[in-house]
Amino acid sequence: MKKLIIPFCILFCFDAFGAGFLKAESFPKGFQDLSFVQKVQVLKSGYEDWESEYDASGVCIKNCAYKGVTLQEDLDRMNAQTGRAIQKFYSLGYPVGQNTNLSQQVDKSDYINTMQTYYAGECSPRNPYIKPGQTEPFGYPLIEKAKITSPYGYRKHPISGNNSLHKGVDLSAKEGTNVFAPASAIVKKVWSDSDCGNGLVLQHSNGFETLYCHLSGVTVKEGDNVQAGCLIAKTGNTGKSTGPHLHYAIKDNGEYIDPTRTLR
Ligand SMILES: [Zn+2]
Repeated sequence: MKKLIIPFCILFCFDAFGAGFLKAESFPKGFQDLSFVQKVQVLKSGYEDWESEYDASGVCIKNCAYKGVTLQEDLDRMNAQTGRAIQKFYSLGYPVGQNTNLSQQVDKSDYINTMQTYYAGECSPRNPYIKPGQTEPFGYPLIEKAKITSPYGYRKHPISGNNSLHKGVDLSAKEGTNVFAPASAIVKKVWSDSDCGNGLVLQHSNGFETLYCHLSGVTVKEGDNVQAGCLIAKTGNTGKSTGPHLHYAIKDNGEYIDPTRTLR
């Protein structure tokens, strides 16, 4: 029987900034086996030392953070949490601005090197809320949850005054906000017209398409393969738009659906 002590997140890990940090000398046994990003997660607290027992096949059988999962699955979940933590650091300006509690505990160059390795071969910036490898658009195309200024459904068009189906949601976002592919995709169309302004359509698996309007710029071109979570565009106020926002629409096999069903 393999016995490991792994850190266990009992709170919202990514919301624990400013909380007390574990000192380096009190790292639990097994800490050295964790990836750097996992260590970061431990460092920024929210974790408690947690003694879990795993059977020979690696399945957790006692004191499990998540019952019945393997160590790898447990660590994967921690990594997912860590992605959120990393995003928080981005939003705080890290690693550009280094005035964070984390930087007091972690060697900065080590952290930066690790971040660069972490993102190498993927894209930068990437949105860690969106699972790498995800092929269907169930995710949020922006980093921050945005106010929906106009929902999906019938409405009086704010400019034309006509009653018509609003085929997507309008997400309030200031000019130049990063837009991320909610799933891996092929760039189907990049264009510009007087309604959509600068527009972009991504083709995902299983007949899903996502559509983006009023962009200030598009960072991909038709035919590109994009990975989930990678930057594809910047929001703007182009076309028929009364203020900076992202018009985000989803088609399921040719039919528009309400994107709020997929915004997680
Ligand atoms: Zn719209």
